[in-house]
Amino acid sequence: MLSGGRGRGPPVQGGFGGSLEDAFPSRQPGGGALVPRGGSAGRQLQTNQMGSNQMVQAFSGGVSRSERALVAGTDGSVAEVEANILQAVRTFGAPPGAKKMMDAERLAAEEAMRTGLYGIWRNASSSHDFCGRIGPMSRCFCGHDYGAHAWSKGRKEPRPKCGSCGCPGFRYIPRRPEEVGEWWLPRRRGFDVRLWRANCKCGHSHEEHDSSSLRCRGCGCPSFSSAWECVSCEGKWQDHETLWESEEERRHCGRSVGQAFMPLSSTPE
Ligand SMILES: [Zn+2]
Ligand SMILES: [Zn+2]
Ligand SMILES: [Zn+2]
Ligand SMILES: [Zn+2]
Repeated sequence: MLSGGRGRGPPVQGGFGGSLEDAFPSRQPGGGALVPRGGSAGRQLQTNQMGSNQMVQAFSGGVSRSERALVAGTDGSVAEVEANILQAVRTFGAPPGAKKMMDAERLAAEEAMRTGLYGIWRNASSSHDFCGRIGPMSRCFCGHDYGAHAWSKGRKEPRPKCGSCGCPGFRYIPRRPEEVGEWWLPRRRGFDVRLWRANCKCGHSHEEHDSSSLRCRGCGCPSFSSAWECVSCEGKWQDHETLWESEEERRHCGRSVGQAFMPLSSTPE
């Protein structure tokens, strides 16, 4: 179904503050309802506004936007999450991007375990370890994939440089509308995710902004300022940083490493 792995994370007690809409939005701009309101998920939403921190800590590993989206509106237990997904899938069909997003997270986690370098996109002012894992399927602000970027020999620089353009260092940018809360978009007739780009408030995409100065070539706006919020932390793009941590650094800070860094649904238990 949504996640290839049928692995079981630990059942999680306590509330979850995320909105059901993160996963399967009940509203779209046109006003059409995607998810029936009410039911246990609906009640959960109202009672659990305080619970997101506990929820995040309760997971053994890091939890990113796609995982949070999958547990949204539930008590976090596997049974509730699956029921939630099943219900939504029965009603609306599988959310187009969910599998893709989970695949990207899994590949990134595998890369981290292989290299010992944990690439993450983090909003330091949020309580989350990270909002996304950086890996082969991640897109840079310059428009090129992570794979087009290379580290120098000693990896002394903070971020790898792009080999396809003048981009001075990889900066994570969402590559799917779901990551910026536009869950309805992929369902639109004729929508092509390959053409979709995350936009600045100025109306131009990140590719129209200089990857070094962040200034817009289209209108001269001085710096990319996201027109959207991260579905994980609700911060703006510019509230985040792209960084790589070693396993030791992460251990030292009590952050997940190794198998615990894998996405929720593929964590064997
Ligand atoms: Zn580039
Ligand atoms: Zn780049
Ligand atoms: Zn701009
Ligand atoms: Zn975020």
